[in-house]
Amino acid sequence: MPASIPLAFTPAVGEHAFTAQQRTLLALAHELGRDKFAARAAQWDEQASFPFANYEDLRAAGLLKLCVPESHGGLGADYPTYMMVAAEIGRFCGATALTYNMHVSSTLWTGVLADGVPMSETQRAEHERRRELHFARVVRDGAVYAQPFSEGSAAAAGRAPFGTTARKVEGGWRVNGRKIFASLSGAADYYGVLCTEDKGDEKPDARDTLYLAVPATSPGFGISGDWNPLGMRGTVSRNLSFADVFVSDDEQLMPRGVYWKGAQTWPAMFFTLAPTYLGIANAAYDFTVSYLRGEVPGEPPVKRRMYPTKQIAVAQMRIQLEQMRSIFLRAVLEAGPNPSKDQRMRLYAAHYTVMEGANDLARLAIRTCGGQSMMKHLPLERLYRDSRCGSLMLPWTAELVLDRMGRETLYESGERDE
Ligand SMILES: Cc1cc2nc3c(=O)[nH]c(=O)nc-3n(C[C@H](O)[C@H](O)[C@H](O)COP(=O)(O)OP(=O)(O)OC[C@H]3O[C@@H](n4cnc5c(N)ncnc54)[C@H](O)[C@@H]3O)c2cc1C
Repeated sequence: MPASIPLAFTPAVGEHAFTAQQRTLLALAHELGRDKFAARAAQWDEQASFPFANYEDLRAAGLLKLCVPESHGGLGADYPTYMMVAAEIGRFCGATALTYNMHVSSTLWTGVLADGVPMSETQRAEHERRRELHFARVVRDGAVYAQPFSEGSAAAAGRAPFGTTARKVEGGWRVNGRKIFASLSGAADYYGVLCTEDKGDEKPDARDTLYLAVPATSPGFGISGDWNPLGMRGTVSRNLSFADVFVSDDEQLMPRGVYWKGAQTWPAMFFTLAPTYLGIANAAYDFTVSYLRGEVPGEPPVKRRMYPTKQIAVAQMRIQLEQMRSIFLRAVLEAGPNPSKDQRMRLYAAHYTVMEGANDLARLAIRTCGGQSMMKHLPLERLYRDSRCGSLMLPWTAELVLDRMGRETLYESGERDE
């Protein structure tokens, strides 16, 4: 699609000088979301069931291989393009966008992130060989990857080594431990697990973090617990257990020690949780405009737009949405390895603004549209519940972002008070 032809809609990330590939992908995501995902969203929410039908559509559209490099048969989308597409999906189904993030991140981390992290020649060659297998599963088999990091400890916050361990054995690793909040549990073909290398010295070290793909069919691998949360119910984020699970050496998604370096080098990788919530903020705004205009399909054509207080609320929502889009897009476009201090601060600020702002917009939407708008047959109350979940996610919960920003503003690296 030529870059000069405008899109027929304003993307969730706002207007921008998109590339031809970005326009094509945004149009595809918008069409899928509007025509397929939006109508199904209530079903996943009500049943707390995984959006399998949406994944069939994503697979058929080639979007599961969005960020697999072209040289490996993927669409070769870069980080900004992923962030734009994910926000567009989030506009129509939050649970699909959030789980899609876990899947796509596993290709971004092994792809563009790993490319920006220093490695020895041997490590680079090993990584090139192993990621070929992993990319082929996505491209050839349409495989889906999960990203279970959380354990209920300080590990996912980046403040302690992961309690899940991997011990080196002949031909691979033995994995033991437990994860909580594993989105795509029961739906993924592979679980990209972060664990600490067990060197037998009882001195676990975060620098020894390993990133391993555990096939869903592995003996010793289990899924347990129920999933009945406030929002994001279609993510089906249950517990995982690993009892002496053997995984072969080729399941290493990054060479030993590289994940830890990657997390220091490429902080914007943690920002990939945000587009889902920018999408939800857009959905709350879009709904409010059509509700106040009396244009919501299936609802009585009652107009509420003539009241000045509602006009003011819509103006406030639009101001906040424009602020979210602007800082989001700026942070996305400047993301890369080794950001400057200002870029890092902007990244934290963008994450906080989107995660807290999405819930703010959803709250304002319900207040402004009024009592009838929060009925379960309309999407607004789901958007409100889904939007609350963003700033709970580690490592950048709203609290931890404030914590980092305050500390990193007042202390330069290595500075201490006596
Ligand atoms: C819808 C949804 C889907 C999710 N999907 C995934 C997934 O696919 N993969 C995944 O890995 N995780 C996922 N998560 C989990 C998420 O990233 C967090 O790990 C989880 O929400 C933390 O819950 P908690 O009760 O353990 O948090 P908390 O208890 O708040 O945090 C856990 C630990 O982090 C440290 N910590 C937290 N806050 C602070 C603070 N302010 N100061 C200092 N230390 C602090 C503490 O050690 C604390 O015990 C998902 C969460 C949600 C809501």
